[in-house]
Amino acid sequence: MKISKQQLEQVNGRIDALLKAGSFYGKKLREAGISHVDSPEHFEELPFSEKSDLRDAYPLGLMTAPENEIVRIHSSSGTTGLPVIIPYTARDVEDWAIMFARCYEMAGITSMDRIQITPGYGLWTAGIGFQAGAERLGAMVIPMGPGNTEKQLTMMQDMRSTVLCSTSSYALLLTEEIEKRGIRDRICLKKGVIGSERWGDKMRQRIHEGLGIELYDIYGLTEIYGPGIGINCACNQGMHYWDDYLYLEIVDPQTLRPVPDGEMGEIVITTLVKEGAPLIRYRTHDLSRIIPGPCPCGSPYPRLDTIMGRTDDMMKIKGVNVFPSQIEEILRDFPEVSSEYQIRISHLDGRDTMRIYVETNGSVNFLDLADRVAAKIKASIGFTPLVKVVENGLLPRSEKKTRRVIDERYE
Ligand code: ZN
Repeated sequence: MKISKQQLEQVNGRIDALLKAGSFYGKKLREAGISHVDSPEHFEELPFSEKSDLRDAYPLGLMTAPENEIVRIHSSSGTTGLPVIIPYTARDVEDWAIMFARCYEMAGITSMDRIQITPGYGLWTAGIGFQAGAERLGAMVIPMGPGNTEKQLTMMQDMRSTVLCSTSSYALLLTEEIEKRGIRDRICLKKGVIGSERWGDKMRQRIHEGLGIELYDIYGLTEIYGPGIGINCACNQGMHYWDDYLYLEIVDPQTLRPVPDGEMGEIVITTLVKEGAPLIRYRTHDLSRIIPGPCPCGSPYPRLDTIMGRTDDMMKIKGVNVFPSQIEEILRDFPEVSSEYQIRISHLDGRDTMRIYVETNGSVNFLDLADRVAAKIKASIGFTPLVKVVENGLLPRSEKKTRRVIDERYE
């Protein structure tokens, strides 16, 4: 989708602000000799920005608005090295809430809903984003934050929560707990707004059936406001995103050239109006595609397909590039296995080995199932993994994100 004239004007506004602030991207622009873009082709000459640039700017090097206009910071989790600090102006905070409220509306959630929020509050963008959007909509918020499943379930019943906001891992954990306790008829949930990690159809089906709720995928990242920049509609054919706030490109992760609409690649985002920390051509490392054409729901907002994984999720095993989503797709054809799996990669006797743990119940012959899964993976990916079948419930469940790939070669 080519950048529009109006979006170009907005980008020029952000370029001016970045040059004036002299932040990392202002310097990049100066080095590239660019102070203005006047065509889609010219836009594509703008340098990319990367998470490492943002990290190098720690602590407040991204600040692009005057300090008296900054009202808040958020921070992305610093799993490797320094965290990234994103400053927000009052307008950024409001814009984010407007986008988030739009997400709820797209999911058919109204001011009569009671929204139980389980993502974390604090430096994290998650909890407060879910809350600000819900308040703007006029819904009743039950701000639980993460963990304490006992209390979550009590409040869910007593407050008669109708919407659950959570990660897919935590939604699964709650589904299993509700079943274990036999309290499903006391749960009033109708919808789930699920964010922050990629999840497969099997897990979606499990939560949908277990809780009897409609599920919506919310998209976003801390560097770009936070969750709430896109969500699927009831037609469930991709996520609508807000192109009045953001311009999205899909690029080939190797060549970094934009690919045509419909083709898979890396999502690159430009913020059109963000003041505190505008980002231009920010590489998300998320893999997806733009879905061409209008949505049957009639919404004018363009669509992004479900996130297929991350460029850095790619596992190189015996010279073959493998994504966890490929393994997940194969497991989907085995109705006897649960939605949970774990991949461990190690280096043994000079060779890479992949072990895959899957769960099933006692009515299945474990050895036979392991052989069938291994054969299917060999047929589709080209090498034979070691498959180990375990009892349902044995693989780790998480209140946040579930770690499914453990690469022991680098640990
Ligand atoms: Zn739609």
